[in-house]
Amino acid sequence: MRIKIYFLFFISLIFNDLSAQKPKNIIFLIGDGMGYNQMKVCEYYYQMQHIFSRWTNYWVSTYNADGFYNSDSTYNNFSYVRKRFTDSAPAATALATGYKAQDGVIGLNENFYRVKNLTEAAKQIGKKAGVVTSVPFCHATPAGFVAHTENRDNYHQIASQMFIESKIDVIIGCGHPDFDNDAKKFTDSSHFEYIYPSIWRELQKNNTELTDYLGKKRKIQSCDGDNIPDAWYFCQETSEFFDVAEGKKTYKRFFGIPKVYETLQLGRNPNKKSNSEVPPLSILAKSALNILSKNNSQGFFLMIEGGAIDWACHNGMKDRLIEEVKSFSETVETVVQWVEQNGGWEENLVIITADHETGYLTDISMNESVYNADSLKNFHILDVKNEGKNTISRMQFLQVHRLKSYVYNHTNQLVKLFVKGAGSEMFEKKLNEYSEMQLNFDKLRRSYYIDNTDIPKILFDFLK
Ligand SMILES: [Zn+2]
Repeated sequence: MRIKIYFLFFISLIFNDLSAQKPKNIIFLIGDGMGYNQMKVCEYYYQMQHIFSRWTNYWVSTYNADGFYNSDSTYNNFSYVRKRFTDSAPAATALATGYKAQDGVIGLNENFYRVKNLTEAAKQIGKKAGVVTSVPFCHATPAGFVAHTENRDNYHQIASQMFIESKIDVIIGCGHPDFDNDAKKFTDSSHFEYIYPSIWRELQKNNTELTDYLGKKRKIQSCDGDNIPDAWYFCQETSEFFDVAEGKKTYKRFFGIPKVYETLQLGRNPNKKSNSEVPPLSILAKSALNILSKNNSQGFFLMIEGGAIDWACHNGMKDRLIEEVKSFSETVETVVQWVEQNGGWEENLVIITADHETGYLTDISMNESVYNADSLKNFHILDVKNEGKNTISRMQFLQVHRLKSYVYNHTNQLVKLFVKGAGSEMFEKKLNEYSEMQLNFDKLRRSYYIDNTDIPKILFDFLK
């Protein structure tokens, strides 16, 4: 009898493990600063629905190593989420490593110990890996998935780690030293904030020896495990990004940097309709998908960030916020199209979330006294109202920065997570664990929620 019980228990373990189909490819999309309302205002403005809106979805807490999220305080006190908010560096670290970190910290846990991230885990099991962003390639979110440093502003150190120490296959992002935010050549000298001159020159020559940020020449890594350094192919031409996205060209190891300074669109002159000179995020994402999947039976891990959603909210730019969320939404559509042509949802797992909300975006009718006075708060009390096509007059940002009154800051609100594809049921399993333990129930959203660190912990299981 006892043997029979052990046998059944053993079978259930195997079955349980087998049922969680492991995805061959994991595509992790992050809308920086993209809270619930940021997604909704874009839908209302275009009277559309994001392709992911009806996917299985969850609420996620985002606080950092010094923070916390309390459901009762959130429910009772409008200003609770105005404090204890994270910045993008520890949020990216949490999403990439499963560890909470201090503000400004990249790839180190709360005790400043180096912790493994998802691209490193993918490389360790022979998968390919890459990061793509619409802001500088070494900015907090992409850096969180590749680098390890105590200060997110150490852009040169992060760049050095990304190109010389990492084994990843694709890095695509902005930060071009020769072009401004209007995608025009700088008239004065180059702007080497995000990359330093020596490595910039060497990358364009596809060198396998690069100068690190301390000035030391070092051999770069192999990205295919044969211990022979693999040079980065350097791409800056828009036409070439389109060629790669259309599969006309492919490369083994790819560094793509569109000819624009800080971000693809948001930083352009207010009177300029768009930076049509540079490719959209969807094309950068498609380029990465094609390079990572080419001649690759092992699969890959790819992080794609819509980074300027956060910047639009920080600056209270309502029209540019909608533009950035739309660009992110179109990038998800491109990813879905790619998935459906490359193995489908049996082989691919797509995850969409935010690192935090920015600006406390609410409806014009909302304020502290209205919220606090309402003892039986409706689930949608903080939601922006749908006022029809092409109108943005009901949006307001209520998280004024403590120091700079013209700027808005992050909040500690829960954000959304959308999942689809192979292994996605593991998120439901995680949520059930919380509900069984009666933990992590959010009174305002009437729902259990998971923590941002839970996401990579599930993905690491797929990357074993
Ligand atoms: Zn921010």
